[in-house]
Amino acid sequence: MTAPRVEVDLDKVAANTRVLVDRLAPLGIRATGVTKAALGSPDIAAAMLRGGAHGLGDSRIENLARVRSAGIAAPLTLIRSPMASQAEAVVREADVSLNTEAAVLAALSSAAQRHRVSHGIVLMVELGDLREGLAAVDVVDAARRVGELPGLVLQGLGTNLACQSGVVPDQAKMDELSRLVEQVEVEIGRPLAVVSGGNSANLAWALDTVDVGRIDDLRLGESILLGTEPLERTPIPGLHLDAFALVAEVIEAQRKPVQPWGSLAQTAFGDRPVRLGSGTIRQVIVALGRQDVDPDGLVPPPGTTILGASSDHLVLDAGDHELAPGDELTFGLGYGALVRALTSPFVATVVVGAAAAGS
Ligand SMILES: *Cc1c(COP(=O)(O)O)cnc(C)c1O
Repeated sequence: MTAPRVEVDLDKVAANTRVLVDRLAPLGIRATGVTKAALGSPDIAAAMLRGGAHGLGDSRIENLARVRSAGIAAPLTLIRSPMASQAEAVVREADVSLNTEAAVLAALSSAAQRHRVSHGIVLMVELGDLREGLAAVDVVDAARRVGELPGLVLQGLGTNLACQSGVVPDQAKMDELSRLVEQVEVEIGRPLAVVSGGNSANLAWALDTVDVGRIDDLRLGESILLGTEPLERTPIPGLHLDAFALVAEVIEAQRKPVQPWGSLAQTAFGDRPVRLGSGTIRQVIVALGRQDVDPDGLVPPPGTTILGASSDHLVLDAGDHELAPGDELTFGLGYGALVRALTSPFVATVVVGAAAAGS
């Protein structure tokens, strides 16, 4: 089979979604499945919907278009602030977008009128992580102004924490978002349909708190795909951690000295990897590199150690494993490594498990 390849078990993606949806539902919180790590794969989008996600989100309009053209009918949200230059595509491909900028809203309004569609707006609020978001003091005014723009409908408010600065979504932050929702509702005289509290980093708060306030939606990517939460990268109980695996092929297997020889300078990517000890090891080269995956997020097979990676070569100490060229090795993936692998043109994505057998 082609290598390198990411093997995805869609039933595990669906099962992870189902567990999270079922835990959040009693709290009145829906899950928006985030497909950005998977280039908007229609297979993965469909698995999230089978698992009960009420809609899908992606940061790239191209990915949403891919989901849409596969005939998936769920509501689609653009979760990165739109580029003004893409306003036409945004109102065509997305039902809703997350926004902060008046100029972008004006462009979306014009585009929505030209296309005779109604485009939903969620205003993002800055609560301290210092990525996207309006200052809290400006939110009510911005909400009123969205109401004055033809073709746009204010759906609600949202926030995003933990991504840029690692700021933890806690009760105080979520209470602040809920208070802003109430202020906006007083101003516009109607209830907001969406209060999107954050991403997978919000799960610990949501599943622990006694009061979710007005939060009724979370945008979940990593937790669904990898079964981990992004704050400490700990496994979430009951979720599959192995819905994805990366398989790559050995191209050299030779006994080599542990230590390089000659005078030493920089490597292709800067720092020299540390090679500890002396004597010889079973060294293998796998046809996998930084153009395929982020080596820092790779979990090597048990008993092997990653010694370094360049653009196209991953070098491992194979330990006691007797490996030969043509053998395949299977790696686990962290979030960064998964994103890079699924978006690399050199890495195939192959569906495995019961979903593959049944199709
Ligand atoms: C990536 C992203 C998400 C999903 O984050 P996960 O940690 O993968 O759940 C949600 N919202 C926004 C705005 C994002 O950029």
